[in-house]
Amino acid sequence: MAEYDVAIVGAGPAGMTAAIYAARANLRVLLLDKLAPGGQIVNTFEIQNYTGMGSINGAELAIKMFEHTQELGITFDYGTVKAIELEGSKKRLICEEGVTFEATTVIIATGTKPRMLGVPGEFKFAGTSISWCAICDGPHYQGKKVIVIGGGNSAVEEAIYLAGLAEEVSIVTLFDLTADPSACDKLRALPNVKVYEYYKITEFLGDDTFEGLKAESTRTGEVISVPGAGAFEYIGLELRQKL
Ligand SMILES: Cc1cc2nc3c(=O)[nH]c(=O)nc-3n(C[C@H](O)[C@H](O)[C@H](O)COP(=O)(O)OP(=O)(O)OC[C@H]3O[C@@H](n4cnc5c(N)ncnc54)[C@H](O)[C@@H]3O)c2cc1C
Repeated sequence: MAEYDVAIVGAGPAGMTAAIYAARANLRVLLLDKLAPGGQIVNTFEIQNYTGMGSINGAELAIKMFEHTQELGITFDYGTVKAIELEGSKKRLICEEGVTFEATTVIIATGTKPRMLGVPGEFKFAGTSISWCAICDGPHYQGKKVIVIGGGNSAVEEAIYLAGLAEEVSIVTLFDLTADPSACDKLRALPNVKVYEYYKITEFLGDDTFEGLKAESTRTGEVISVPGAGAFEYIGLELRQKL
């Protein structure tokens, strides 16, 4: 079995960056991922905030990052890590595929997943009419009404993007809009955007077809129905997996 100083679980931007730093410190590095390197950026159409890159397709950026790891001699392997044994000086990484790896140090960079509301109807429509990716699914709502849930930077920026496609965007948030003031101003100025602040979503509506959602004002108790052909949730992230 090859000897590694550092094993990094997850070859997204965080894992690959950690691998580059470790290799530059002359450590023997193993980079593991259950999928191709790149993590979430592989499925991102355009990235515009990576310093020095201008505007770049996510998959292209992932390839550039991976090439950088390969120039430094970092070992990449496929493996879905399901458990890590931390006893002793060598930590053991146990993979679902039946292989194990050993390293002195382990870095976990397995990313995050979107937080969900946990209200009735969400599970039924998740992945069809409820999405977490406006760039991926926004074009389905061309000329239709759509709902954005959340009030932070992701929600507000994606609502601005969707307002360029949809007939109407309703943004529903538990508090007020907490995104950067310039983004909030831009959103509020759009003629086809409705903002519902201080509303708690209680359920998604529709039997077979998504119809919108029901929400209750945390200030007045008023219950409203917000119509939409689909919804995008941006209420934060949580760890993808506990190892
Ligand atoms: C549609 C979309 C658009 C985005 N656009 C932008 C943008 O324009 N600009 C920007 O800065 N950010 C953007 N982001 C966010 C950016 O993609 C993430 O911040 C970034 O990918 C996080 O990197 P990470 O390495 O922490 O995790 P991830 O990218 O999630 O990578 C985690 C890796 O760990 C692997 N993994 C998980 N569990 C295991 C396991 N048990 N064993 C082995 N491997 C495992 C996964 O396969 C994955 O490759 C976007 C995200 C999405 C979804």
